[in-house]
Amino acid sequence: MTRKYNFCAGPAALPEAVLLKAQAEMLDWQGRGLSVMEMSHRSEAFVAIAEQAEQDLRDLLQVPDNYKVLFMQGGASSQFAMVPLNLLGKGGTGNYVKTGVWSKKAIAEAKRYNPIHLAADTEGNSFTSVPAQNEIVLSDDASYLHFTSNETIGGLQFDYLPEAGDVPLVCDMSSDILAAPLNVGDYGVIYAGAQKNIGPAGLTLVIIRDDLLDQAMEITPSMMNYRIAADNDSMYNTPPTYAWYLSGLVFDWLKNEVGGLEKMAEINTRKANKLYSAIDNSSFYGNPIAVANRSQMNVPFTLADAALDKVFLQEAEQNGLLNLAGHRSVGGMRASIYNAVPEQAVDALIAFMADFEQRHG
Ligand SMILES: *Cc1c(COP(=O)(O)O)cnc(C)c1O
Repeated sequence: MTRKYNFCAGPAALPEAVLLKAQAEMLDWQGRGLSVMEMSHRSEAFVAIAEQAEQDLRDLLQVPDNYKVLFMQGGASSQFAMVPLNLLGKGGTGNYVKTGVWSKKAIAEAKRYNPIHLAADTEGNSFTSVPAQNEIVLSDDASYLHFTSNETIGGLQFDYLPEAGDVPLVCDMSSDILAAPLNVGDYGVIYAGAQKNIGPAGLTLVIIRDDLLDQAMEITPSMMNYRIAADNDSMYNTPPTYAWYLSGLVFDWLKNEVGGLEKMAEINTRKANKLYSAIDNSSFYGNPIAVANRSQMNVPFTLADAALDKVFLQEAEQNGLLNLAGHRSVGGMRASIYNAVPEQAVDALIAFMADFEQRHG
């Protein structure tokens, strides 16, 4: 068996140590004689797994006590509807910052429930930078300000926390949660699909300040209601138990093997810096994003001659470097270098890029 380096944007690489642990426990979890996949979600064993996962996540992010952690389903895309459904029951308007493909999707979905106010929009510069703070203008009746901390497809990341006064910040953190420490207390709602930087697909994490749990619209389906999820410990119905368990193993790995989010951030910064340097130091590779807003997680790049894209991808794969094609909507290349992508993978990619340039540039 050879594991190759996987630069997929999502579902993405998982830490090898986590996969090995899951493999070892696959048939018989801690002497109980059954797999986690076969356990009742109400069993004492699974409830212990679920609670440990939540505690480790709380420890990693230092989640304050007045925040609930919800383990939901439906992906980040369902949150695009759940946010307005749960937060606009008392009126007001959802305010949105538009910085790329994912925030556009969030806006389109929210428009089904309210007119929304576009607080800032950087489409005019082809989403190559985030708006400056003074370019974010809230409506007087703002119920929340939604932004996307890391645009996974464009490779665009906020380098500062938008300020919205008393208006709660709602953040789609699908592709950069747990990449670095953050102050949960600055946010009203944080949400993230698991399959980028947390665990396998099927689980969606929501972290919500508890005073925001009681302003859902009447029409909100029970399965999409944050209050109902919170009151039922995220087990209103059968949760995605195995994804929850695996995410718990990832939290444990971050805490006890990596050594916490400060450490993780150091490694992530080093990985991203060397890859962007390799791009900037060549005239063959390019990246259009404003330097301060370049994503540490998703690094899109183009070749000087797009006709070579196919050859690049083929040769990369032959060299054990998988899933480097850019998103189907933008083309080019994209290396997703999430927490679980080891620094050696980035080194191998940089070496391959230099070699490819020498032979084809
Ligand atoms: C992947 C992604 C989504 C969509 O996630 P799903 O879980 O597939 O719905 C939304 N927002 C961001 C920032 C993403 O990276």
